[in-house]
Amino acid sequence: MNRTDFPILRETVYNRPLVYLDNAATTQKPQAVIDAVSDAYQHWNANIHRGVHHLSQVATQKHEAARKRVAEFLGAGSPNEIVFTKGTTDSINMLAFSFGEAFVHEGDEMVVSQLEHHSNIVPWQMLCERKKAVLKVIPLREDLTLDIEAFEALLSDRTKIVSVAHVSNVLGIINPVAEIIRIAHARNIPVCIDGAQSAPHMPIDVRQMDCDFYVCSAHKMYGPTGIGVLYGKEQWLNLLPPAQGGGEMIEHVRFEHTTYNTLPYKFEAGTPDFVGSNAFAEALNFLDSIGLSAIEKHERELTHYAEKRLSEIPGIHIYAAGLEKAGVISFNVGQLHPFDVGTLLDRQGVAVRTGHHCAEPLIDYLGVPGTIRASFALYNETADVDALVDALQKAVAMLS
Ligand code: PMP
Repeated sequence: MNRTDFPILRETVYNRPLVYLDNAATTQKPQAVIDAVSDAYQHWNANIHRGVHHLSQVATQKHEAARKRVAEFLGAGSPNEIVFTKGTTDSINMLAFSFGEAFVHEGDEMVVSQLEHHSNIVPWQMLCERKKAVLKVIPLREDLTLDIEAFEALLSDRTKIVSVAHVSNVLGIINPVAEIIRIAHARNIPVCIDGAQSAPHMPIDVRQMDCDFYVCSAHKMYGPTGIGVLYGKEQWLNLLPPAQGGGEMIEHVRFEHTTYNTLPYKFEAGTPDFVGSNAFAEALNFLDSIGLSAIEKHERELTHYAEKRLSEIPGIHIYAAGLEKAGVISFNVGQLHPFDVGTLLDRQGVAVRTGHHCAEPLIDYLGVPGTIRASFALYNETADVDALVDALQKAVAMLS
């Protein structure tokens, strides 16, 4: 599917064709996105919002058009609900800080799950330290899915917010976010969804999902690095104070008193990444030209195929085997160290990720030093899976 749009896929690694299966870490970029970055610096680079001159107006118009495009892509009610950030990590940090300042007091509780990425744990932990609040953790069932009954029992009148991943970056499991949101909302608790691993893989409609906040990173969605999104319902964003001060986020500055800009600018201190936002919009156009439903179907089929082919390897353990996954599959082979296996796969041109995948509490729970993770994108094919399985067979033979 559309491999020729991605020039990097023609690269070789150790004189072998590149088999890129590290898409959960970051995706490769289509030519249209690469061109959008270069076009900005060649033709319309100028700082935005303040300039009376032509280039500044062009850049401003492109940046605001990109915001509109992101709003449309995520199903937000208005571009005012789209705050550009540096990425998912930045979005969650910003939210944890602002939300904490406005709503969290000593003894209050925040809820995350056992399978979160560190960036959906540590900012909340930092908030808990700052405010003497408590972090509660949704446990997993034996099959590694979230224990929803336990989640419900965790909620109390001290729970201020729930923040969970839509898709696990280690296991590929799709969490029942609609149910989580319904349960939390029944108690008037807002929910943040970490969409870093869902936005690239399935149609997202934040209004239909009814989440209060949704965060994602452009670089995992075929867009540029260094830009991401904090979506928030307008009524929530209006209640939150800015996380950073500086240019752009103000209305008037006096030494006695400063007033803040309207949404979404109040959360965007400093010169925004207008080159990145425009290239991100180009990535979204690319995604929509294929269609998220078609991408989802292709990647699900590929993941099923990978699970079937990988299970041919003697001694393999596939985590969350048999569960529906969104383009991610994690495994170990016998007692072989994931790092050794990953290194031998790399020597054969197959790029996977090994280790804790920034989810140490989950890896500890699994009781292993790490996993080997293959993750798929729209341009992967069954031939990539076959190359992985062949290379894995050779690696296992060498290490056993
Ligand atoms: N959450 C999840 C589920 C992720 O997979 C990642 C990236 N691995 C992040 C958050 C952090 O994203 P970023 O590094 O782009 O800020």
